[in-house]
Amino acid sequence: MDAGEKNDERYMRLALEEAELAAAEGEVPIGAAVVCDGRVVARAHNRRETDADPSAHAEFSAMVAAARELGRWRLTGCTVYVTLEPCLMCAGLMVNARVDRCVYGAADPKGGALGTLYDVSHDPRLNHEFEVTPGVLADEAAELLRAFFRARRDARRAARAAAGGPPGECE
Ligand SMILES: [Zn+2]
Repeated sequence: MDAGEKNDERYMRLALEEAELAAAEGEVPIGAAVVCDGRVVARAHNRRETDADPSAHAEFSAMVAAARELGRWRLTGCTVYVTLEPCLMCAGLMVNARVDRCVYGAADPKGGALGTLYDVSHDPRLNHEFEVTPGVLADEAAELLRAFFRARRDARRAARAAAGGPPGECE
């Protein structure tokens, strides 16, 4: 593993920590970090339910926070680390923010816009292209998501059983 790959894993660990914070808040566990010239300028996690905001995706919020921190809308020199492949909205913001690179963990077959369903990073019709490194700590990111959805299914099943069970059965 070279120094670049080691750094990618180190920063992806921060994004995974953010994903765990999301899970603790009952949010789908997706986390992100923005690194500019070797400095972590923003971290964020998914807060769609908490904020009742369809744009509150981890990497979207992290990019907005990074721009605020840097005092510029252009995120030139920045790499966005995110645990799940970005959707169209977030990949679109990466184009608009002129990011240098995106490193993501698990691919998203249901909405991935950096190589899976679409590839917004290298579309010559758009005015910016950026580098993408997929699959960094992908297993850990995917396992967080699987565990979250498994727990949610179990909780719903338990709630249904409790609602339908005979009175007094519930502790
Ligand atoms: Zn998104």
